[in-house]
Formats: sequence, C-alpha cells, structure tokens
Amino acid sequence: MKQVILAKPRGFCAGVERAIEIVERALKKYGAPIYVRHEIVHNRYVVEDLRQKGVVFVDEVSSVPPGSVVIFSAHGVAEQVEKDAAGRNLQSIDATCPLVKKVHTEAQKRESEGRQLILIGHQGHPEVEGTSGRVKQDVILVQNIDDVRKIVVRDPSKLAYVTQTTLSVDDTKNIVQALKERFPEVAGPELKDICYATQNRQDAVKKLVEQIDLLLVIGSYSSSNSNRLKDLGIASGIPTFLVDNPDDLKVHMFMGIDRIGITAGASAPQALLDQMLDKLRELFDINVQEIEGIEEHVKFNLPMDLREVA
Ligand code: SF4
Repeated sequence: MKQVILAKPRGFCAGVERAIEIVERALKKYGAPIYVRHEIVHNRYVVEDLRQKGVVFVDEVSSVPPGSVVIFSAHGVAEQVEKDAAGRNLQSIDATCPLVKKVHTEAQKRESEGRQLILIGHQGHPEVEGTSGRVKQDVILVQNIDDVRKIVVRDPSKLAYVTQTTLSVDDTKNIVQALKERFPEVAGPELKDICYATQNRQDAVKKLVEQIDLLLVIGSYSSSNSNRLKDLGIASGIPTFLVDNPDDLKVHMFMGIDRIGITAGASAPQALLDQMLDKLRELFDINVQEIEGIEEHVKFNLPMDLREVA
C-alpha cells in the first residue's frame, strides 16, 4: 500500500477561478465564439475544456474579427493591447487577476514619482509583457542575481522594483536583497507583489517534502507557479515530476517509493487531481490523506456586466 499525501492548499486560486468564471459567463451572455487573447490561465486541461465550449484562443487581437467579444487573460495585458482592441471595434472583457492589476498600479505610481523601474520576472512571460506595457518607460528586467550585478541605471537614488506575482518566494527574496545591497535607495512595494496563492502553495510544499519520497506537481509546463513548486521538490532532493495528464504517470516512476506527495499549481483544476488519483488507484493500492494547511477564503468580484449572468 502506498501513501498519497496531498498538499494544502493546492490547485485553483481566486484569480484563476474568476478568470474561468468570466469566460463561462461571457459564453452564456454573448454566445460562441468568444475570443480569448492568450491562454486564459496556463493549464492545458482548462483551455481544452473552454475550446470545446466555443472559445477561440488567439495570440493577438489582430486575429479577432471586428465587432467580436475578446477577453484578456488572467496574466494581464499591455495598455496598447486594449487600444488595439478598441481600434478593431472589439468588446473587451478584462479577466486580469486583481493582484496583477495591483502590480500595474504600483509600477505606474513609481513611474509617476520619477523612478526608473526594475521588474523582477521571467522574460517572455505574458504577465511580464503586460506589466512592462503599463508604463511609458522601458523597464529593466531582472531574472536572477547575476542580472542585478550587470544592470546599468540612470540614477541609483531614483529606482523602484516590482515583481511578477508567481515567482519563487526564496529566489525573489535573494534578488531583492542583492538589489538593496547594490542600490540602497531602491523603493519596493509596501506589500510584496508575490501573491498569496503562490506563497501559500510554496509554503505547503516545503512542509510536504519532509514527509514524502516523491513529489508530483499537477500543472502545465507553461505554468510559472507550477514550475516553482517543481523547483522546490527538486531542491529538497526528492524525485519530482510536473504532470498535466494522467497518462504521464508510469509504474516505473514509483519503484521503491512508499510515500507520494501531490500538489497542484494555481491553474490546475480539481478534476485533473481526481483523474490523477484514479490513475494511481489503477496502478497501486493507495491510501490518500491531506496535510494540515491554510484554508483560503479569497474571492474576487466579477466585472459588473457579468454579475447578473447565472
Ligand atoms: S496565481 Fe496569484 S496573481 Fe496569479 S491569478 Fe492566481 S491569485 Fe492571481
């Protein structure tokens, strides 16, 4: 009998629930097709499910027929994307997570103070592109401590940093410390930008890895917060796999393993966890339990015009 121990909290965060709810309600209100710029959240299962309900995912609003409804993903968009959508006479609905919006506001506030902006994040991630496109200046992107050593700034007394919401809490702490050592006057967010869901899921995995022999992280390969959970498993020295399909689970992965830990990224649905557990039951006798952890009660409001849709 293998023990399966579930992290708590795991899976959907309030921003992802809100974004999916927005798409579902928009489908009911306006009918298919509804266009979504970028994957609404970084999860293959969620995206496929919505595609089957009539959602068309596009990379740019230029691919959306004029007059259509377009939804911006939870990761946020640059201001120019909103202008482009208006220019094509699209009806835009914004599913940007309110916690990403908070980072946009922070960046704009710092810019209005005359500060040069440093953005801690991953190059090419849509959230980084969205945040960069919310200010007038070219932000300085910092991905690691090495970057901190290399950056060239205009005036060290007029600097501020913001971060992507789904980074490694520990890595980011080290990068911020390096920034403060090099630029003691750098201004930072009053409250940190890494979101509650990212922090809680990472804390839960740190606790979980002490009790298990192998970690499964349910999430898609494009999901930043899922990859950070995987990094924590690897750093703890146990075999760790990022899996987004029950067929990814093979008997040989569990040879000599008695205790399997499972967590799920903030964009991975409960249905996918259930499928993974069913697959494990096909392969082995398992006993499933959950570690003690934080109960999350965060909920974000929907856009006004979708609130009345049942
Ligand atoms: S991971 Fe955090 S920032 Fe991203 S959608 Fe969820 S709550 Fe919002």
